[in-house]
Amino acid sequence: MKRYTAHCAACALTTSGSADAVRVYDPTGYALFATRWDLVLDCRGCGLPRSATLVRVAARSAYRCGERCIEASGADCACDCGGRNHGIAFEAVRRAAS
Ligand SMILES: [Zn+2]
Ligand SMILES: [Zn+2]
Repeated sequence: MKRYTAHCAACALTTSGSADAVRVYDPTGYALFATRWDLVLDCRGCGLPRSATLVRVAARSAYRCGERCIEASGADCACDCGGRNHGIAFEAVRRAAS
């Protein structure tokens, strides 16, 4: 499964999400934080769209998955979860559809 990670400088927070949490940013109205048509995740702190980076998964896993992966804020995963657990401690907040 593909995972994405985004950084919010304003909140100093990392937000992580799977492909269903990421969306293409439609710059209707304003385009302050993301470039046109960037993939974005909504910051779990302020809720604003932040440019999302695809987590790169190493071809060969070198480590057992653990805390370092779960709390990872970078975009590289080299453990044996294949990116599945990467950054899940910073999971994006699902917005209730209302
Ligand atoms: Zn934020
Ligand atoms: Zn892992």
